[in-house]
Amino acid sequence: MDLRLNEKVAIITGAGQGLGEAIAKVLAAAGARVTVNDLNPDRAERVAKEITREGYRAIAVAADVASRFQCVQLVETTRAKWGQLDILVNNAGIEPVSPILKMDEWEWDRCIDVNLKGTFFMSQLCGRVMAYENRVTGGIIVNISSIAGVEIPLTHRAAYCASKAGIVGFARECAREFAEYGIRVNTVIPGVFATPMTEKARQNPEVMAKWQREIPLERLGEPKEVAQVVLFLCSEASSYMTGSTVTVDGGKVMR
Ligand code: NAP
Repeated sequence: MDLRLNEKVAIITGAGQGLGEAIAKVLAAAGARVTVNDLNPDRAERVAKEITREGYRAIAVAADVASRFQCVQLVETTRAKWGQLDILVNNAGIEPVSPILKMDEWEWDRCIDVNLKGTFFMSQLCGRVMAYENRVTGGIIVNISSIAGVEIPLTHRAAYCASKAGIVGFARECAREFAEYGIRVNTVIPGVFATPMTEKARQNPEVMAKWQREIPLERLGEPKEVAQVVLFLCSEASSYMTGSTVTVDGGKVMR
């Protein structure tokens, strides 16, 4: 199975920690030149430095994916540095906690703007480059949704659930429209992973016990276990996959 990404150029959004960090490191180790994006410049720099220290290639670019202007800068900085663009991983996400009856408009808007509109901005901007410049090689887009968007609700996270369901719908049409340019678009649906996003919940023994009961593999996922699936979707090994959703959840929501 060919999982090498030799000389490919990848942007990973929200890669300053958690799943995005693992994805950036796994893609870089597979031979890709990676742009580590994060809202937080220090985190992006740390991850890019760790990748280069291992002998792989990375730069850090701070940008808010909810800002179209900053997305343009992210894409153009990547092209100026590496001279091409082949892979986009839409990973950046936030998870505001608020019951619907108390949620204010700003919380709703910010969650949809980062998780869903950011995915649209980046897919459109990178899609244009891939469609018009990569006539032979095409491109790859991988989106990170959540089981909370398609399988089960998540308490007091209605905006998050809506944004993650939106990503799945958007990605399918994106896959259909981009197919003629040789751009494949797939979506990963993670279950529960040990990242800073779930840190608070993981400190609660009752929540941990519930997760262990509900997950047939009896443990949370490690970030690398999503990253390896993303690598597969970015590689030639998945050449006949587009418009797919791939659940990676230790069996939590099997149907
Ligand atoms: P995380 O630990 O919170 O990391 C997300 C990173 O994205 C943070 O460094 C964050 O920076 C950054 N970010 C936030 N808003 C951004 C923006 N507007 N522009 C650029 N970067 C931004 O989250 P994670 O657990 O690794 O999750 C990564 C993705 O997987 C998310 O889309 C999440 O919804 C999804 N997911 C996670 C799980 C899980 O169990 N962990 C399960 C299902 C799906 P700041 O901290 O500065 O905001």
